[in-house]
Amino acid sequence: METTKKDELVTSLKGVGSGTATALHELGIETLEDLVMTFPYRHEDFRLKNLAETPHNERVTVEGRVESEPSLLFLGKNKSRLQVRLLAGQHLIKAVFFNQAYLKTKLELGQVVTVTGKWDRGRQVVNVTTFSSGPKTDQQDFEPVYSLKGTINQKTFRKFMRLALDELAQVLIDVLPESLRITYRLPGISEALEGIHFPQNVDHSKNARRRFVYEELLIFQLKMQAIKKVRKEQNKGNSVAYDNNQLKKLIETLPYELTNAQKRVVNEICRDLKEPHRMNRLLQGDVGSGKTVVAAISLYAVITAGYQGALMAPTEILAEQHASSLDEWLSPMGVRMALLTGSTKTKARRIVLENLEAGNIDLLIGTHALIQPDILFNQLGLVITDEQHRFGVEQRRVLKEKGENPDVLFMTATPIPRTLAITAFGEMDVSIIDEMPAGRKEIDTHWMKEDQLHKIIVRLTRELANGRQAYIICPLIEESEKLDVQNVVDVYTMMSAALGKDYTVGLMHGRLHSDEKEGVMREFSEGKVQVLVSTTVVEVGVNVPNATFMIIFDAERFGLAQLHQLRGRVGRGEHQSYCILLADPKSEEGKERMMSMTETNDGFVLAEKDLELRGPGDFFGRKQSGLPEFKVADLVHDYRALNTAKVDAEKMLNSVDFWHSEEMEGLRSVLINSKVLEGERID
Ligand code: ADP
Ligand code: MG
Repeated sequence: METTKKDELVTSLKGVGSGTATALHELGIETLEDLVMTFPYRHEDFRLKNLAETPHNERVTVEGRVESEPSLLFLGKNKSRLQVRLLAGQHLIKAVFFNQAYLKTKLELGQVVTVTGKWDRGRQVVNVTTFSSGPKTDQQDFEPVYSLKGTINQKTFRKFMRLALDELAQVLIDVLPESLRITYRLPGISEALEGIHFPQNVDHSKNARRRFVYEELLIFQLKMQAIKKVRKEQNKGNSVAYDNNQLKKLIETLPYELTNAQKRVVNEICRDLKEPHRMNRLLQGDVGSGKTVVAAISLYAVITAGYQGALMAPTEILAEQHASSLDEWLSPMGVRMALLTGSTKTKARRIVLENLEAGNIDLLIGTHALIQPDILFNQLGLVITDEQHRFGVEQRRVLKEKGENPDVLFMTATPIPRTLAITAFGEMDVSIIDEMPAGRKEIDTHWMKEDQLHKIIVRLTRELANGRQAYIICPLIEESEKLDVQNVVDVYTMMSAALGKDYTVGLMHGRLHSDEKEGVMREFSEGKVQVLVSTTVVEVGVNVPNATFMIIFDAERFGLAQLHQLRGRVGRGEHQSYCILLADPKSEEGKERMMSMTETNDGFVLAEKDLELRGPGDFFGRKQSGLPEFKVADLVHDYRALNTAKVDAEKMLNSVDFWHSEEMEGLRSVLINSKVLEGERID
């Protein structure tokens, strides 16, 4: 776009006074460019349709000749009903206007008029909202509807939009290279803007949208990849000279042989560690695929090279569990470990901090407590965060900055659909553990109603009699932790009544003190508690291989990703496991989620399904996701455009000639302005 004209303030438009300017300002619109880049969220459709095929209650636009004198009826203060007969093609219909008495004079016998309203039982247009004298041809087929607030209305906004588009039409410079526009048959910027605001027809609108989706995703990909490239070149990380023999020794002492996927991933990580740039890697592996041991090996690698390692988990229970697994594997190798969580006592904490700074601790495991400002490492070489999507961007940054360019590995058991992986983690390298340890059995999953509970308990008792254990997961009540607790206590009471005679039933929820939680969890993992009634605090990572039975109450309240996570607490050992979803979903979507759970154990399949059903915003939950917000693109439907944009961005950045060619000038300046070429983060 040309610099001067598009940067002109909206007040340069005829009719925009200070009042309007203020209203536009509230919408974030200052310049002409801001204005034309404010897209409508939908269009009102004023096309004439075949009345015979128009369903009852649908909005409809009708062009017709006035066939009767209008009749006007006053129904009280400011209330009136005006009606008239129209001949629309073959159809003699009625048009009914409420509270628009002033239109009476415009409905002259024999005149052609156009009305829009609700089509009622094939006979009349009721509640006319839009009226114009004269035939439909005088009116646009599609009228944009914008998301507005404040004093400005749609009509005024449209008027200024029209003016701004006319002002800019001749002077806009297109950022998209012409060669690409030709390849993909994308409209140029002026035509696209026209089509996104005031389309002549459906194709006009579709092509305009296609163009902006591509442009948006291409620029996004260029930024992501530029960052990745610049980081690789500039980020002098540690070249970790780990001791390969020591690593082999550790791997030999493990209680099992690594799966091929684990071996591959360990190699990918070790290669990154050795290289002098900073590792920024995402490790994806379904629940139970064995990420912990990969973390242990990676941490041990940096420790053999004289660095410290840190492992951060989202909950205390998980941190403790990691600590005990890693202790088992790494202590025999001489690794000095410490655990730091929110409940570490002040004095113990101080000792840990001192030893950490002095370099007497090789490995620190913990929760968010690890990223407090007073925690200083001696020489931090590798940071691993487990279940990384639960951490915000900011926390990730703080932790990275604790050491001198530590390598960073993010682990997640929530399989991320491909499109989201490219977008949310586009600037990262990705490793995937796509293989389960041998002998793992599929979890047999059933969807049942709560009135079958007694039958389920009979089945559960059989598992318990065979020496197995069970989880009972209680509904998640989003609004209130208090209700969560009440719920879990109710279920606990019921289960204790049903099973308490022969078995020990434990209770776990977020309100318990961490010692209590730890106590219950320990008793469960030692088999002293056979049935654990819990809220979703057991969701991530918890590992009790002897647990083979899970009941999830009100399963329809959970998203697929979370159900899959929960279900992953069973099926971790040699025995066949079962998961019962108690659910009575009202929506089709809810039913589909339950069906999907019973049909597959594959987290990636479920992730794609979840994305499709709930959309990208909900996929990661409400917490900070690191997901970019797109203006036009939609990650569910535009995944093909995303892939195309990704490939094109790679080509552009890898071909020096193309990158510096004249037609790339627009995109180059977008990147230069966003500062990503200096390696700055875009979010
Ligand atoms: P997740 O990827 O969900 O964090 P874990 O690391 O907790 O999975 O591993 C799940 C279970 O699988 C643990 O009991 C672990 O000891 C076991 N495991 C991991 N790797 C292997 C392997 N290669 N062979 C057999 N069992 C394994
Ligand atoms: Mg895990």
